[in-house]
Amino acid sequence: MTVASELTGQRFGKLVVVKRVANDKWGLTQWSCKCDCGKTCGVAGHVLNQGRTISCGCFREEESRKHNHRKAPYRDLPRGVYYISQRGAYRASITIDNKTKHLGYYDTPEEAHKEYLRKVNEVD
Ligand SMILES: [Zn+2]
Repeated sequence: MTVASELTGQRFGKLVVVKRVANDKWGLTQWSCKCDCGKTCGVAGHVLNQGRTISCGCFREEESRKHNHRKAPYRDLPRGVYYISQRGAYRASITIDNKTKHLGYYDTPEEAHKEYLRKVNEVD
């Protein structure tokens, strides 16, 4: 079996190799690595040598979070309608003379928007 090259101090993706640790149960070289996120994890030497962007696992989480953000379902709400996640409801509000007036909570953006339009017409 070949001796793993000295990796200590090298960076692989988000991981910096701290030290070599005991081989795993299959006899593969293991390295203790510190991730950019602050976590420490053990990584097999052959994984590091593949040269991929790797992390303790947080990299993938970050990616999926970004992905979820892009898919945010409440981005294109009608005017005067806001989604209030704590309530799981849509809030209608209207701004008159720089004062925001809340018009209540609704189950759907359509209902909230209807109320908003009603108030807008009242003001006019
Ligand atoms: Zn991490």
